[in-house]
Amino acid sequence: ASKHQCLPPRFIGVTGTNGKSTTVTLIDLMLRESGLRSLLGGNIGNALTEELLKSGIGSDGPEKEYDFIVAEISSFQLESILHFRPRVAAILNITNDHLDRYEGMNDYIKAKARIFENQTSEDYLIMNADDPVVMQMMAEVREDGDKRPKILFFSRLKEIDGIYVKDGVVYVNFSGGSPYPLVSVEEIKIRGAHNLENAMAAALSALISGCSPADAGNVLRSFPGLEHRLEWAGEVNGVRFINDSKGTNVGAVARSLESFDNIILIMGGMDKGGDFSVLKDLIKKKVRALVLMGEAKEAIADAVGAVTDTCEAAGLREAVELSLSKASSGDVVLLSPGCASFDMFRDFEDRGNKFKEAVNKLKDETARNGR
Ligand code: ADP
Repeated sequence: ASKHQCLPPRFIGVTGTNGKSTTVTLIDLMLRESGLRSLLGGNIGNALTEELLKSGIGSDGPEKEYDFIVAEISSFQLESILHFRPRVAAILNITNDHLDRYEGMNDYIKAKARIFENQTSEDYLIMNADDPVVMQMMAEVREDGDKRPKILFFSRLKEIDGIYVKDGVVYVNFSGGSPYPLVSVEEIKIRGAHNLENAMAAALSALISGCSPADAGNVLRSFPGLEHRLEWAGEVNGVRFINDSKGTNVGAVARSLESFDNIILIMGGMDKGGDFSVLKDLIKKKVRALVLMGEAKEAIADAVGAVTDTCEAAGLREAVELSLSKASSGDVVLLSPGCASFDMFRDFEDRGNKFKEAVNKLKDETARNGR
């Protein structure tokens, strides 16, 4: 019998406003690439993971089959958790989201901090050194010896304990060894500054858990990204269409805007109380036209409509057509709604799929018209 069979699986939990799904998917792939038995538990709201947690990890349930359970954790779920103790907890970022539910940032920070409240000195806490709000959470980490997890960081900007970027190369630096290169930033298949952060958080979580550097690097070179997160949706008359339907808050929209230039941006949906005005400068700089739909369209127009050419569409299909009519060859039409989808769609997947359908339809029509 291998040693695997007598150890309970360890829990790796990822929280943050954005990037959780991408990061847990990467961690799971990396562990499995290294021959470790990992279960991707999805959101801990999901039945399977809930079951595993309730049964108490390490008891005689189906979880015995696994070395690791990797799951994303939203702050709503953290509210109800009493004894949750992840062996590795990663905190990606905290931006202005869900403020309709929380009194303010401080409560939101406290809710997120519960992910490490039961950790001990055997456990790891991984934090984004470049995110000022995440760093504020350091104040919530216990000071007393045994109850203080080992803290490591990821950073695009500074050489820290953990994992960081220097001269275009990702370096790993933990547990007293000397820093070693993992992969060059250029080689990482998922693009954009935010994905670099996700990639580093995932690699560090996996490496701590026993994944080999070579295997972590291979996954970063090959993983193409998840559906509905800056997903390529097609090209019509030289205009590229990008589906970022999962961009449901202003933080995600900001990061997506940073990834392109000359953008026609489709926004709107159900307003979650986010502050759209934080997007003003980026929209002014990057967005040639803003197409609004859904319940939130007035709120968005009030906040940022003045800084670019802004118009409204009755539905997604109309928004896609309008966007194409506003675009020139080389432009990018980006669906990054900054809002929930439930006013017009079943969920963000439904919205993303309808967007892709609309793009495909336009593609067919233009082909038929011989243009
Ligand atoms: P989550 O599971 O936390 O919702 P996803 O990986 O599904 O995260 O990404 C959600 C959205 O956030 C996408 O629009 C994506 O482009 C954007 N995003 C992904 N990672 C980050 C990050 N680290 N910072 C900011 N935005 C991000």
